[in-house]
Amino acid sequence: MKNWDVIVIGGGIIGFSLAIELRKKGSSVLVVERGEPGREASYAAGGMLADCTIETPSALQPLATASARMYPEFVHELQVESALPVDLRDQGAIVFPPPEHVYERPGFTLAKLLPAPLAELEPALAEPNRPAFYVKERSVDPRGLTAAALAAAKRRGVDISSGDAVTAVNLSDGRVSGVTTKRTSFHAPKVVNCAGAWAGQIAPHAFPTRPVKGQMLCLISPARELLKHVIRSPEIYLIPRSDGRILVGTTVEEAGFDKRTDVTTIQRLHRAAIALVPELRNAKILEDWAGLRPGTPDSLPILGATATPGYYVATGHFRDGILLAPITAHVMAQLIEGKSPDHDLANFSPARFQNE
Ligand SMILES: Cc1cc2nc3c(=O)[nH]c(=O)nc-3n(C[C@H](O)[C@H](O)[C@H](O)COP(=O)(O)OP(=O)(O)OC[C@H]3O[C@@H](n4cnc5c(N)ncnc54)[C@H](O)[C@@H]3O)c2cc1C
Repeated sequence: MKNWDVIVIGGGIIGFSLAIELRKKGSSVLVVERGEPGREASYAAGGMLADCTIETPSALQPLATASARMYPEFVHELQVESALPVDLRDQGAIVFPPPEHVYERPGFTLAKLLPAPLAELEPALAEPNRPAFYVKERSVDPRGLTAAALAAAKRRGVDISSGDAVTAVNLSDGRVSGVTTKRTSFHAPKVVNCAGAWAGQIAPHAFPTRPVKGQMLCLISPARELLKHVIRSPEIYLIPRSDGRILVGTTVEEAGFDKRTDVTTIQRLHRAAIALVPELRNAKILEDWAGLRPGTPDSLPILGATATPGYYVATGHFRDGILLAPITAHVMAQLIEGKSPDHDLANFSPARFQNE
């Protein structure tokens, strides 16, 4: 009977990034994925690597900053190992803050925070005089990223079981001994739950993760370079890809595990995109979809060892799981190896939910 050093539950970007990191350190690893690898939140995401937004919780800032710094190398390695291209862009973001945040006083204007006049930076914007600022950040195509992570994991010798859900983590003498799936069981002394929005459904620990739905629209612009920067306004964001696609997002909905889109919402996103960039009127609608972010009660990820020896969790990355994948893999691999992680994970401990 085959045994692995570590079983990773869930083949999203978090599960694969961690599996690769563990493999690099010499562990044998099995990823067990319920469906097709990389087809849930990691497929639905926009891919902004926004490490210093107003919404980033302060407790998350050190991990967000560290992960953003790791990205060029993270993507480079995945590209080399998978031989697949990953669209990583570093043109930055133009942010239109909500009116209540626009703070202008004599001698200071938000325009000073732009490297050039808005009309030069993004000529296609409808309102070249609207208060805006520039943020240095990258964006990545999460579908390409996850596909490259899957291919790189295979190439490194990570085993993958797909199309079979883990139903329980098995214990023997109070320690982890593997997992039971709908069809079989797999053996390992260490198991990591990276099952995203579904992480709470696997016994024995009911992590308080919940699905937070986001609907997205994808347009293809006739002019490939219509937009250079990510554009964020209070209503929507626009994320340009290098092939001319422009993603329009999103909603933040408590709708259970329902991944359907609705016409009214998609039309609203479409209208808001055209109001921001009128030329998008001529763009074709390529696709719309919805995905389920792994939310937690305090909007912070759950990272660390559980009370059950050998059982770990890395989930709950909510709106930042693409950004946080490299640092999550790094610190979780250190922890699983028995080392002390480079970052203090106390704020993310699964123990904080023990009494819920
Ligand atoms: C619309 C939208 C926009 C987003 N935009 C951004 C963004 O711009 N930037 C950013 O950083 N993040 C963004 N996110 C968040 C990001 O997508 C997530 O935080 C991240 O993908 C979580 O990765 P994951 O691997 O934990 O989850 P997932 O990708 O959901 O992977 C979990 C996997 O576990 C599997 N699984 C579940 N249960 C079981 C089981 N019992 N047995 C085996 N396998 C199981 C699932 O099938 C799934 O493949 C966005 C999310 C959405 C929905």
